[in-house]
Order: sequence, then structure tokens, then C-alpha cells
Amino acid sequence: MLYVKDLDVQGKKIFLRVDFNVPLDKEQNIKDDTRIKATLPTLNHLLEHGAKVIVASHLGRPKEEFNPEFSTRPVAERLAKLIPQKVLHAPDVVGHEVESKKTQLKESQVLLLENLRFYPGEKGNNLSFAQQLAHDIDYYVNDAFGVCHRSHASIVGIPQYVQKSAAGFLVAKEVEYLSKAILSPKKPYVFILGGAKVSDKIPVIERLLHKTDNILIGGAIAYTFFSAQGFGVGRSLVEEDQKDLALSLLDKAKSKGMNFLLPQDHIAAAAIDPGAKKHIIQEFPIPKDLMALDIGPQTIEKYKDIIKTAKTIFWNGPMGVFEIDQFGKGTEEMAKAVANTEAISIIGGGDSVAAVLKVGVSEKISHISTGGGASLEYIAKETLPGLEALTEK
Ligand code: AMP
Repeated sequence: MLYVKDLDVQGKKIFLRVDFNVPLDKEQNIKDDTRIKATLPTLNHLLEHGAKVIVASHLGRPKEEFNPEFSTRPVAERLAKLIPQKVLHAPDVVGHEVESKKTQLKESQVLLLENLRFYPGEKGNNLSFAQQLAHDIDYYVNDAFGVCHRSHASIVGIPQYVQKSAAGFLVAKEVEYLSKAILSPKKPYVFILGGAKVSDKIPVIERLLHKTDNILIGGAIAYTFFSAQGFGVGRSLVEEDQKDLALSLLDKAKSKGMNFLLPQDHIAAAAIDPGAKKHIIQEFPIPKDLMALDIGPQTIEKYKDIIKTAKTIFWNGPMGVFEIDQFGKGTEEMAKAVANTEAISIIGGGDSVAAVLKVGVSEKISHISTGGGASLEYIAKETLPGLEALTEK
């Protein structure tokens, strides 16, 4: 794989794919610019070496058509405050106006395109869209680790239509840390998996079964596993179409004799609400009007005991609805337990990272990944579509 520092970029047009998917408030003010700052080493390197940089990102979930609410304009304004160079903004992603702005771009100038997801070709990896993005571009640089697990046009399509493709500094750093955890993990290796998106996580768990003897499950994903086994989970979040897969994973884990642990007790309430009454549930069924929103005290102790023995830990997804204090204890206790070990610890996913920051233990974590889904998939599959696309040429 080529890295951005390997490219001679002087006078060249570079398509720089970044992850500027920043949180915005209702007035479109940027609430947190960490993601913009994370790509500055790559952007500054390109500008200092005389490149003409065309920057592109997705932002939010627009309905694949132009929508000013999801415009990258506020990002252009913030970026302009973070770098000495002028930042030009294109009102579109492809087309005549963008092409003429690309042509006029001078060395060490930045042109930020509109939101890539205004076009269905982005997510659909439409090759003619990728070709339009790549038009007149010399080299492609990917510094958007958070979306490297997505086979989108700006991730896997463009590299087919440019002379050279390379990883930016952020992608390179992520790969360096994560590959250490894959190649020579010190054992015991403990995976902690939580969060809400079962369909994102269950498919990778199968691969994790071959890598570890310890998987600790928390968050809403636990309840698809319970429901699949016929336990009454009340109104807890369950993805019905993932139940068969969940059952087959439980069977595989059992036949391997591994520690595949689901919560022993649960904190449940009638609503995801700070004022809702909290119940500790120790047995199934969970009452019909309640939903499980955090792991219970016995589960916390059990998981902490296993975490203590770990030499390598990978954590993705909170143990409960940690955004609300009374459902955040499980996640906070896991954060403290992980921080208290001497293990190599890797945390991915905005929510688990937020929990670690909230508890104030981020200094004690070996690597905090900028991509939740991407880091989980990389650990499980040992590669990502976005990384493969960089090596194919
Ligand atoms: P994910 O993006 O899949 O890691 O999911 C993160 C989200 O899962 C957070 O916003 C949590 O509030 C939510 N979450 C975690 N546990 C539960 C639960 N038991 N029920 C509902 N949502 C949950």
C-alpha cells in the first residue's frame, strides 16, 4: 500500500476523501470538530508540498439529493479557520461548475466539494459516478478510516480511475495499531461488544469466535440473542431477522467451549427517559411493559473479573443507554475496568469512545479508533474494502 508521503504531489490534483461527518446543531453550527482536525496532518502535508487538493466527504444521512440541511458549507467555513490557506467551496459534487473550479484550482489551494451522499451513485458505488469524481484527478488519497468498511464510490470506485492511490496519515495510523492487535494479540484476548445495531455486529461476531475465547455482550444486541432462545425480553430492542444467525452463533460458541457471555441481570425501565423508574431484573421473563437498558450489577462484576485477566481488549459499543446517567453505569464501569488493566486496549465507536471520555480514562487506553464499524470489521476480517482498493493498483 502506498502512503501519502510516498507521492510526489507538487502541482498534482489530489482527490482527498475525508470523514467530515461532524455533528451539527439545528442552526448548522458544528458541535465537535474532532473529525476535521484529525485529517489536518494529511491536508497540511499535501498543501505544504504544493498539491491542488479536492476534498470530499459525506455528512449525515441525506436522501440522496441536494438538501441544504446537509451541506458541507459549514465545514468549509470551519476548515478555513483551521488552516492558513483559503478554502473554496463547490456547490455540487460533480458537473460543469465543479469541473471549472477544479481547473482553476492553484497549487496549495483547497476545494471542498458538496456532500457526496447527495448522489445515489456514492452509496451504490456507481462506476460512472466514480469516474466523474475522478475526472481530471491525478492521485487519490483516502484519510476517511471511519468509512473504509463501506464499498462506496468515493472509497472503492475512484482508485480504479486515477494513476496512484494512497493512504493518508490517519488511515495509516489506524491500520498500524489495529494490525498489531490482529497479528500478535497477547492472550487472553477479550472482546466487549455492545450497542444497538445488531445487524451491523452479529455478522462479524462469527469471525471473532475464531480469534478469542472471551466475548462479553452488553447493550441492546444481547436481547436478540435472548429472544432467539425463547426468553421473554419485554419491550427490549430485538431484530427479528437476525435471530437465526444469533442462534447459530450461540451453538458455535458452545461447541467451542468458549466464554460467550450474555448479561446475567438487567436494568430495565418502561421508557428511555431520565425520569423513568429503574428496575433490576434478575430472571426472565423481563416484564412485558419494560425494556432492558443497561447491564445489571452482577453482570458488571462478572465482566470486570474477566477484563482483569485480559492482555488484549477490543471494545465496541456501549453496555446500555449510557447517554442517560441512570442507564450508564454498566458502560462507565467497563470503561474504568478496561483502563485499569495493563492490557493493550483498543476502543472503537463514537459511543464507547464518548463513555471513556466521560469517565476521564482516555489516557489509559492504548488506541482510540476514529471508526467504530470500520475498526470492528477490520479486527474481524483483517481487511477492509477501502484498504483493498488502495492496494489493487
Ligand atoms: P451502536 O452504534 O450500535 O454502537 O449503538 C449505540 C447506541 O446503542 C447508543 O446510542 C445507546 O444508547 C444504544 N443502546 C445501548 N444499549 C441499549 C439498550 N439496551 N436498548 C436500547 N438502546 C441501547
